[in-house]
Amino acid sequence: MDIASSPTSSTSTDVDVAVVGAGFAGLYLLHRLRGQGLSVRVFEAGSGVGGTWFWNRYPGARCDIESVDYQYSFDDDLIRDWQWSERYPRQEELLAYLNHVADRFELRRDISLNTRVTASIFDDVAQTWTVTTDQNERISARFVILATGCLTAARTPDFDGLDDFAGQWYHTARWPDGGVDFTGKRVGIIGTGSSGIQSIPVIADQAEALTVFQRTANYSVPAGNHVLSDSERKDGADGFDARRRMQKESFLGMSVPMVEAAAADMPSEERDAILEERWQMGGLPMYGAFADVLTDESSNNAAKEFFAKKIRAKVDDPDVAERLIPKGYPFGGKRICVDTNYFETFNRDNVTLVDVNESPIERITANGIKAGDTEYELDAIVFATGFDAFTGALSAIDIRGRNGQALTEKWQDGPRNLLGLAMSGFPNMFLITGPGSPSVFSNMVVSIEQHSDWIADAIAHMQDTDARIIEATDTAEDEWVAHVNEVADSTLLPQANSWYNGANVPGKPRIFMAYLGGVGDYRLHCDEVARAGYKGFALT
Ligand code: FAD
Repeated sequence: MDIASSPTSSTSTDVDVAVVGAGFAGLYLLHRLRGQGLSVRVFEAGSGVGGTWFWNRYPGARCDIESVDYQYSFDDDLIRDWQWSERYPRQEELLAYLNHVADRFELRRDISLNTRVTASIFDDVAQTWTVTTDQNERISARFVILATGCLTAARTPDFDGLDDFAGQWYHTARWPDGGVDFTGKRVGIIGTGSSGIQSIPVIADQAEALTVFQRTANYSVPAGNHVLSDSERKDGADGFDARRRMQKESFLGMSVPMVEAAAADMPSEERDAILEERWQMGGLPMYGAFADVLTDESSNNAAKEFFAKKIRAKVDDPDVAERLIPKGYPFGGKRICVDTNYFETFNRDNVTLVDVNESPIERITANGIKAGDTEYELDAIVFATGFDAFTGALSAIDIRGRNGQALTEKWQDGPRNLLGLAMSGFPNMFLITGPGSPSVFSNMVVSIEQHSDWIADAIAHMQDTDARIIEATDTAEDEWVAHVNEVADSTLLPQANSWYNGANVPGKPRIFMAYLGGVGDYRLHCDEVARAGYKGFALT
């Protein structure tokens, strides 16, 4: 049913639903909502679909959830037909998958590319949203869904002198299409988070010299990546449903079970054996090494010591190894990275590590980077400096709810919402994987599908009951925010300076933004709210 032109609709609107963003979330939302007879328009700032996988084209960019799990579940034929080449596919392949989905489900006709939404203003009288774009278009919509991504607003820190630099500079999240040839070049890279850790080994292979500027050493687990055999692919497709069921009930949306025992109760040999087993599995299963690894200091310390041993074994120069060992924050407090030959790269003659805690970056010069007493001469600088996570893409849009209240004003002390899905004062507006939901602390495709389905079901419920408005209540919102904070505070994670809590953006309120209750428990909360007739939401 087209709500925009339905008899129950007292105001005419251009579309039922405006969706901002055409990544994993926006594409699925379009397909799902169309399927329930709604008119949908998707706006995408990029010149192509794919979101994260459209923008992040840096060397070595891959997902770090296994391909079989990092894909949509909504269409059995799609699961069977699409053949992943590797355990952890490269950006190109992920982008090809999302383009395939856009073509296969004929999504493109309702997507406006190269179109940035600049404002979304609620009209209190008409009870509709007016969405404005940088293409001077203005449309009205009953619902707005912000599928703008949590890791979208790239951050280039404000270094003095960047304009003076005579070479080229790049941000990993805005990498030029067609790539960059670093052959024979002296390259500096700032940042050793996930993007840095993925790109450093690949750039080191090509460049004449690579200087790595590190502020914080990170926990990184070898990926154990490999080309998938035909039988692995077949097993992946045959076992997909069972895996996805498990992911939905799990803590992180992954299909490797967590160890249910607490490390605090184990002899140290048993702890080490479990950690070694997880290390050999490769990648993020390390998060599930012990039931208490994120909550108990001694358990967390066991993981820290294990990483320190591994890094010392991999890195030849003991001084360099010490600098690469994460210190001063809990394991898991920053997103764990997944790498291929990261630590080994520091054994190469053409790679230098600069610890900016000892030698702070003073400025960028015409010739390179001045850190401490040294000017490092460079032909190119790569900023692997991450994102204004969770809220950056949202605060870039002028979003105003009831009585003209700006979202940035509502969130001035940190994000507030119900279930990470909706805000009081912002009727008929939804977030996808927003702050207050498991979001980046999960396999995000699982979370994206769950959010999209929940929203689509809520709108279907409104269609069935002739409701015009759905809006989170203040009380329910307050309770959810308190719960999110309480769960976060029961873990060690808020102790780290991380983009999880806004610590990487000067002046950003310090709030742990992901919900740490786990994907399974979170889903139960959402389902319970829906079953109880959207408890905590006012439907009018
Ligand atoms: P995105 O893919 O970020 O898409 C949002 C889109 O919205 C963007 O294309 C953006 O241009 C658009 N947009 C934003 N604002 C506006 C506006 N105002 N107007 C118009 N368009 C707008 N997650 C995992 O679970 N596993 C992984 O292995 C993993 N690896 C990652 C690796 C990298 C390098 C990064 C950056 C993220 C990774 N993530 C991973 C997280 C990843 O972002 C999600 O998995 C997923 O791709 C998010 O999809 P999305 O549609 O919600 O958002």
